[in-house]
Amino acid sequence: MPQTVIYIDGQFYNKNEAKISVYDHGLLYGDGIFEGIRIYNNRIFKLEEHIDRLYDSAKAILLDIGISKAEMIDIHIATARKSGYQNAYIRTLITRGVGNLGIDPNKSEKPSIIVICDEIALYPPEKYTKGLEVITVATQRNGVNMFNASVKSLNYLNNIMGKIEANLAGAGEGIMLNSVGYVTEATADNVFILRNNVIITPPKHLGILAGITRQTIIDLAREHGYQVKEEVITRYDLFVADECFLTGSGAEVISVVKIDGRVIGDGTPGPVTNKLNQIYREYVANNGTEL
Ligand code: PMP
Repeated sequence: MPQTVIYIDGQFYNKNEAKISVYDHGLLYGDGIFEGIRIYNNRIFKLEEHIDRLYDSAKAILLDIGISKAEMIDIHIATARKSGYQNAYIRTLITRGVGNLGIDPNKSEKPSIIVICDEIALYPPEKYTKGLEVITVATQRNGVNMFNASVKSLNYLNNIMGKIEANLAGAGEGIMLNSVGYVTEATADNVFILRNNVIITPPKHLGILAGITRQTIIDLAREHGYQVKEEVITRYDLFVADECFLTGSGAEVISVVKIDGRVIGDGTPGPVTNKLNQIYREYVANNGTEL
């Protein structure tokens, strides 16, 4: 029977046994980084890309993970194999590790490596067939001169504040702008629009998470003959878009049909979004690191 397996610093645990110290700075200060990775059909999707991004995040916060990327990949494969899941979700966490009650990261001797392989909770299927109604939220995405959102850090309160606004408004998601009003991303997904048959997504230099799904969609769309631009967009561009969709490892490709009360297209998932969704699903089912 497939089951949840959790790797912590060299040992495997089940869900009830897996524990970390309350002095871990990942808990005390959100001092750490993470990844969210999918397993489809017994293959880990874009594993190397996720590990590369993990090590970039680590470098940015001056955290020495202490093992090579190759060893990290082996840990992921071992954890996934041990779980027995053929379709699942991997959550990787690197925390600063156990320290004292002050914030100084130098007081933590070594980081903790945690790899959770568990089932994925998907959005309800009707969200994919009907599309999401979203709002733009007042909480601004961190600017690049603050803590760069390209770091996938354990401190997600910027995103969570945006998600709370979306929840309070009864919206399916919140789209976050930066300090000058440019669209950045949703609280846990990247944003795309279609306008006059051109697919547009905000550029990475705005300070967004460089989504693995975002890049996969850009590549697949181009391969299939679509024009894709990485360009700054505003709320106005969202309102007048022909189509809009969000991408993420968890969400995959999900259509947006209403933004701040403005109906997008005819209010149902558009043909290009549907096509990209189908291309994406076929691609993920057939590519990845074999288990
Ligand atoms: N933006 C944010 C803020 C995220 O947390 C995520 C991941 N859930 C994404 C975008 C999408 O990234 P990916 O495609 O790599 O999952």
